Amino acid sequence: MARAAPPRPGNVTALAGLIAARIAAAGPISLADYMAECLLHPEHGYYATRDPLGAGGDFTTAPEISQMFGELLGLWLVKSWQDQGSPAPFVLAEPGPGRGTLMADTLRAARLVPGFGAAARLHLVEASPALRAVQADRLAGHAPRWHTGIESLPDAPLFLIANEFFDALPIRQFVRRGGGWAERMVGLEDGRLAFGLARPVPIVALNHRLADTSDADVVEICPAAGPAIAEIARRIATCGGAALIIDYGAGPSLGDTFQALRAHRPEHPLASPGAADLTAHVDFVALAHAARSVPGVQVCGPLAQGALLERLGIGARAAALARRLTGPALESHLAAYRRLTHREEMGTLFRALALVPAGAPLPPGFA
Ligand code: SAH
Repeated sequence: MARAAPPRPGNVTALAGLIAARIAAAGPISLADYMAECLLHPEHGYYATRDPLGAGGDFTTAPEISQMFGELLGLWLVKSWQDQGSPAPFVLAEPGPGRGTLMADTLRAARLVPGFGAAARLHLVEASPALRAVQADRLAGHAPRWHTGIESLPDAPLFLIANEFFDALPIRQFVRRGGGWAERMVGLEDGRLAFGLARPVPIVALNHRLADTSDADVVEICPAAGPAIAEIARRIATCGGAALIIDYGAGPSLGDTFQALRAHRPEHPLASPGAADLTAHVDFVALAHAARSVPGVQVCGPLAQGALLERLGIGARAAALARRLTGPALESHLAAYRRLTHREEMGTLFRALALVPAGAPLPPGFA
């Protein structure tokens, strides 16, 4: 979440060599192409090759910080499911499930309501073979099925949660030059990967940003995000269901948010392709707009993560868990509660967006 460190000399990974060869042969590539190579290259991609989460990894996420996060999202799903008449069977889906921790906590909390687990058919959207193996182990009792995209989920009422999925989708960056936009590219300088700018051209998809930006401003677009959320919205509008999407960012996009994290430290995004996590802030204005363009869906929020968790009862849950703890375990539990909710930690930087069918009751926390 901090800004990237200054450039580091040399791109040392095997993937850096492959990307440099591609650029030498065919010219500079967009940040989106660079990000996709770094994250998803089948042999050297960051997600393709490892489990990056947790203390021994490169970054951590809300479900890895505390079980309370998944439990409250589980209760959110159960209530939304009951509000729509408890349809059975239904698709319980999670894009980008990481280690499966969020879904495991969600399903455990949902056991409070008999019928939910029995009606749920678990579908996971995951690109990484390494993480699929971790999820298979963690969720073995729930017979998950895997998909490479949201499009192939079965047609049925869809109850979906996604945490830090959209921030991993590749972005493109543009620098405003008068009435046009110069795309930020990855090229070569003295044989090493380096940022450069393409010639400015008008970009139809950014016409509306001419009104709220000035010369030299940077804006980002995430080409895969709109189609992904529209697909979720279309299924909810036609089959029923609910989606809760949590990620960091605000919007409308303004400024360079492209960042690399390695061993919990920021580094230059070109420093070690394939060995660092690459993300960008999620533009919730664009995401909500893409969802709203689908007829028959109600878009709720975005709402700050801290506010949502407080409204879902994290205070009472934290107090109940605290009663069983003492010493360092109690301290780390209270630190986790603060980390998830406090405005100086994840409380306002992260936001939640919810989708339900038009006319359905507003989901918990969004009323
Ligand atoms: N939701 C988890 C993990 C977040 S990390 C948590 O909160 O802990 C991002 C997750 O999205 C990983 O599981 C990663 O492998 C997956 N992912 C990233 N890009 C993807 C893509 N294009 N398609 C499918 N899954 C992707």
